[in-house]
Amino acid sequence: MSATAHLETRHDWTLADVRALFQQPFNDLLFQAQTVHRAHFDPNRVQVSTLLSIKTGACPEDCKYCPQSGHYDTGLDKEKLMEVQKVLEAAAQAKAIGSTRFCMGAAWKHPSAKDMPYVLEMVKGVKRLGLETCMTLGRLDQEQTQALAEAGLDYYNHNLDTSPEFYGNIITTRTYGERLQTLAYVRDAGMKICSGGILGMGESLDDRAGLLIQLANLPEHPESVPINMLVKVKGTPLAEAEDVDPFDFIRTLAVARILMPKSHVRLSAGREQMNEQMQALAFMAGANSIFYGEKLLTTTNPQADKDMQLFARLGIQPEAREEHDDEVHQAAIEQALVEQRDSALFYDAASA
Ligand code: SF4
Repeated sequence: MSATAHLETRHDWTLADVRALFQQPFNDLLFQAQTVHRAHFDPNRVQVSTLLSIKTGACPEDCKYCPQSGHYDTGLDKEKLMEVQKVLEAAAQAKAIGSTRFCMGAAWKHPSAKDMPYVLEMVKGVKRLGLETCMTLGRLDQEQTQALAEAGLDYYNHNLDTSPEFYGNIITTRTYGERLQTLAYVRDAGMKICSGGILGMGESLDDRAGLLIQLANLPEHPESVPINMLVKVKGTPLAEAEDVDPFDFIRTLAVARILMPKSHVRLSAGREQMNEQMQALAFMAGANSIFYGEKLLTTTNPQADKDMQLFARLGIQPEAREEHDDEVHQAAIEQALVEQRDSALFYDAASA
């Protein structure tokens, strides 16, 4: 590799290339990932998003990992599409705890014509609050994609989940090609893409490599790449899946960072099961985005306090919105964090 090879953005990764990255000694891989990371990002800033489920459960898709699928009995309470006002209240709370992006997820195969006007109102309202907007609503057609872009949606999340070869073991009701088509519509409409996958579903190392190759060889890299650790939920077919070796998980983050040097790599679902040391390693491997989950949108919000405490111990600061280089916004976020740090709860979380 030439001295500047790590600065190049490539779209022609092969399985042999990516296998070679995975097979490096752990320290070499982490060093390479950290070098790439530092060439493109402040290594001590992490972007913080909040996720809200705006329509929960009874999804017609059969994703084997998902408690929201109507195909499995997981005891999950089903909920209709949330009222716009309630969504906006949750977004305002997310902003108050330092989030810069508000992600709204609906368990749908695709949005219906009846629901679209409400969804568009949510996008406009959250934008007005000064947050970046992201939605995940399932498959989109071109018209819906255009309407979302016109309403001001910044990001659309649609995960590829795994490699094309392994995909049929996990989902049978939606094809890989349909997923790629939705991503192409989103790109054509000028929105940013959030797309990643899940580890721990019984996939091989080549499947992990295959997923990352699919993402990295898209015409443009997704701006956001969530890497999830399977959360095993009773009632789903993957409830008893074997655990992922934590170092293999970190290796996957590191390879994602090297393949997509300018993307935000998000340490996503499963983070609550990771100890602080593993999260610190994930940041070292190049992860630079996290979720505060929806259940954290409460007044006490102990998990958010715990996250901010970890940030403080690692000297990490939350990243400001991309298009906001005004220091006022950053100062407001930092002030919110200082207030949290000063609260009794912050220190309670330390001893938890
Ligand atoms: S499409 Fe989304 S909500 Fe529906 S089952 Fe799959 S992962 Fe779950």
